[in-house]
Amino acid sequence: MLLRGPSNEWWFDRWVADLGRRGVAFHWETPLHQLHVDGGRISGATVGAGTPVEADVYVLATTPFAAAEVVARTPELERDEQLAKFRPLVQDGPHTQVSFRIAFDERMAWPRERTAIALTDSAFNITLFANEQAWPASVDLGRGVRSLWTGTACVSTVPGPVHGKPLRTCTEDEFLDEVLAQIYASDALDLMILEANGGRGLRDFPVLRTEVWPEWHFSPDGIAPDQPKWVTTTNTRAHRPAQATSVPNLVLAGAHTETEADIWSIEGAVESGRRAARVVEPDVVVQPQHKPLLLRATARLDDALYARGLPHALHVLGAATVAGLALGFSRMRSGRAT
Ligand SMILES: Cc1cc2nc3c(=O)[nH]c(=O)nc-3n(C[C@H](O)[C@H](O)[C@H](O)COP(=O)(O)OP(=O)(O)OC[C@H]3O[C@@H](n4cnc5c(N)ncnc54)[C@H](O)[C@@H]3O)c2cc1C
Repeated sequence: MLLRGPSNEWWFDRWVADLGRRGVAFHWETPLHQLHVDGGRISGATVGAGTPVEADVYVLATTPFAAAEVVARTPELERDEQLAKFRPLVQDGPHTQVSFRIAFDERMAWPRERTAIALTDSAFNITLFANEQAWPASVDLGRGVRSLWTGTACVSTVPGPVHGKPLRTCTEDEFLDEVLAQIYASDALDLMILEANGGRGLRDFPVLRTEVWPEWHFSPDGIAPDQPKWVTTTNTRAHRPAQATSVPNLVLAGAHTETEADIWSIEGAVESGRRAARVVEPDVVVQPQHKPLLLRATARLDDALYARGLPHALHVLGAATVAGLALGFSRMRSGRAT
């Protein structure tokens, strides 16, 4: 489930306040530096500039890049089968994906509740979500804002149609130009808006403001985020560690660990947290993912095709259908000729 409001106001701030009331001590802006091992257990951690922290259970839930560095600082940890996976897990380096927001001063309908859209033919591979679909009317979207789209540009290496530059070398203004141009170029999105808004298309709703999340720093040498982002790929997926390690009081969490959600997502992060909690609290329930039989069967077929270097299941089925039709057609023609 998506959150029912902006994640800080509706979730994290309230959660942190509750935990604070229960006596949890937070060390904000204080990186975990090292985990210390004694007798096969974690005996303590060092955070920030040498502050020692002790706990009964240690949960390593940083980005996989930071986790790989922490593990590498303590050679005993690298002997664990799960912790040893961090090195290959981050072998491809960070992945550039940039989030942005587009505000409209009019409420715009989408065809179905909670529709998320991926503009798969856009150069920057843009995904979009209209937050007001999921949030109650009481949530303040911003001054004068009636529709608030959040989006992500997921591909950073393909040149955009406006400035001819890939995302990673765009300035912030060039990036926003590209995002708007690529959104307006989508006939499918426009048609969807037309149908849901009684014949008014995307261009009939003026954009009030656009914004890139402040986490990203644009420069001619390339874009850099405050925190490196990871992503599930065919290279990295196989190296995801499980949450339980052979160190009894050390568990792993994060969307980069092994989950049924399968991809690096909020859902994966949440599931990993429950799985990590279950290692120490066996009563914790982890909801299984709903995967229909057809999806499981095509996924298995797809894995088998991929292992043989063949194209995606849908492409193979499509090609087989076209070949079958062509064969049938040529037999029909030769039958007629004879
Ligand atoms: C642009 C963008 C758009 C996205 N859009 C979506 C979406 O629409 N839907 C979706 O499901 N997912 C989306 N995702 C993916 C989703 O945000 C991640 O999968 C999820 O946040 C991962 O959660 P996590 O807890 O594993 O890691 P993170 O959220 O990365 O948390 C790791 C934490 O570790 C902290 N940290 C790092 N180093 C240290 C250290 N040394 N010591 C202590 N702490 C440290 C970091 O500050 C951070 O708070 C998006 C990601 C990006 C980048």
